[in-house]
Amino acid sequence: ETILEAVDLEYSYPDGTNALRKVNLQVRKGEKLAILGSNGAGKSTLFMHFNGIYCPSSGTVKFQGQGISYKKKALIELRKKVGIVFQDPDSQLFSASVWQDVSFGPLNLGLSDEEVAERVKQALADTETSDLEDKPTHLLSYGQKKRVSIAGVLAMEPEIIIFDEPTAGMDPRHAHEFMQLLDKLSCEGKTIVLSTHDVDLAYSWSDKLAIMYRGEVIAQGLPDEVLVQPDIVERADLTIPWLIE
Ligand code: ADP
Ligand code: MG
Ligand code: MG
Repeated sequence: ETILEAVDLEYSYPDGTNALRKVNLQVRKGEKLAILGSNGAGKSTLFMHFNGIYCPSSGTVKFQGQGISYKKKALIELRKKVGIVFQDPDSQLFSASVWQDVSFGPLNLGLSDEEVAERVKQALADTETSDLEDKPTHLLSYGQKKRVSIAGVLAMEPEIIIFDEPTAGMDPRHAHEFMQLLDKLSCEGKTIVLSTHDVDLAYSWSDKLAIMYRGEVIAQGLPDEVLVQPDIVERADLTIPWLIE
């Protein structure tokens, strides 16, 4: 069952940069979808469309089979279900402390104070940031901020969670813990989309893999099918260790 979909999606930035060209991509419920692409491929631009931050130049974004509405109320509802952890953690952290940053989203969901506190605690534990809860967010390291920004989205408990290059800038141990967290979320039935430059990570983690290059999805399918096509891999500007002879 397709839960989120890009249909003939095109997007040009105001300066004329053509960032997405006829992107067609389906995300199925419960799926682990990895989007692989080198810098500038269009991954972040695509994600900005998935919860209506960007409005396509042409084409459609569908959630549960329906074109999304860009009216304010509809977007608020959509964003409860489709959570995005942005590439740059500073873009979603702005409170005086980690606790306040992580509770910001759930406080707007109409939950009781106890429920909010419960969610924040769980999200901090899941991202190994409990010990940071009273710290001012702006004083944290990049990797810590990254984990706090993830906690903020987890605390919203969205159905689909989109991670834009989540492990970039994380140390290996936290990156490993993070991948285990993704397994846990997946077991709980969440749909997970992540972007990465890391071919090994994408291959070993995903159920489905899409490769983007210069605004296009140039291949999608089972990781085993997509990554054995050397021409695709070469076109995408990706370095694939086991294909280098
Ligand atoms: P990725 O996330 O895969 O690295 P992006 O979606 O950030 O790719 O970028 C896709 C294309 O859009 C690139 O050519 C990039 O230079 C361009 N781009 C990104 N952000 C902007 C912007 N704010 N204004 C103009 N062009 C942009
Ligand atoms: Mg990039
Ligand atoms: Mg990006």
